[in-house]
Amino acid sequence: MSGEDHTNYQRPLFWAIILLGLVLFVKCEPALTTPETDTANTASKYKTSNVVIVVIDGPRFRETWGDPSKRHIPFFANELAAVGIHHNRFYNCGATYTTSGHAAITTGSYQWMANDGSEIPYYPSIFQLWLKESRMSSSKALVVTSKQKLGVLADCVSPALRGKFNPMVAVADREDRETLSTALELMKQFQPRITLIHFRGPDLYGHANEWSSYLQSIEETDNYSYQIWRFLQQDPFYKDVTTMMVTNDHGRHNNNVRDGFVSHGDFCEGCMHINFFATGPDFHSNLVINKPRQSVDIAPTIAELMGFKHQTFTGSVMWELIK
Ligand SMILES: [Zn+2]
Ligand SMILES: [Zn+2]
Repeated sequence: MSGEDHTNYQRPLFWAIILLGLVLFVKCEPALTTPETDTANTASKYKTSNVVIVVIDGPRFRETWGDPSKRHIPFFANELAAVGIHHNRFYNCGATYTTSGHAAITTGSYQWMANDGSEIPYYPSIFQLWLKESRMSSSKALVVTSKQKLGVLADCVSPALRGKFNPMVAVADREDRETLSTALELMKQFQPRITLIHFRGPDLYGHANEWSSYLQSIEETDNYSYQIWRFLQQDPFYKDVTTMMVTNDHGRHNNNVRDGFVSHGDFCEGCMHINFFATGPDFHSNLVINKPRQSVDIAPTIAELMGFKHQTFTGSVMWELIK
């Protein structure tokens, strides 16, 4: 150590800078400590025992909640809005494709994946993490989809969980009304605690360049979402202890981008801006929130409600939803 260094310790300015640094460090610490590092089992804090996530594949915000008339989502507008929360500025900030968009929701991490079902997510999903934590049988987590390729959501590359604690899956290329009835039957029979239900309609008819069918499928999935909510209100197992979230994997191009509503997959506003609606016993109701949020915030929020560990999530808990 040189003599010059030694004299530094005797200067008031030196100590003032050290003290200021300490004060700033202590002051900033709460902001630097993200909620997801709190991995204690917090399930008992909440009334939620079950979570149902509905993913409607690829409608645009502007034809759904972003339309002031909300003419294509009458059940959300007239029945569900009053009992839940809608985030007006919710985005998929990762790859705006179907498998990547779903993986962001279920793993809480963005990752670029093949969109043909040939690649499973790297990070573990809420299904695997929760089944591992709870030690319940695989039928207590369920994935029901209208696209077969979404079977990839059941597993992950991450060595600790690959091939383990996989949820029950009911995946097929089929009509959304069949997916709805399959989902409700499986929920009645197995009473899964975490369920994902996927509807393909808006994406299918968007790619087919069939505008009126695209709008009609938005209306159908609005109706199906309401039917799921009604089931949760009436079923003795789910009633009063179930949180329901409805979101999208991605939107579609804005009208001035490429082929407009027909396709998706880039970072245009239309592709990234999606919906997020949530209702449940621990959430506020009749509320619209404008704080920007992302797909990867869904998994940490579910983990907080269900009380399991989530070190691999990059999103954060949506505390603003919780009462
Ligand atoms: Zn999609
Ligand atoms: Zn786009």
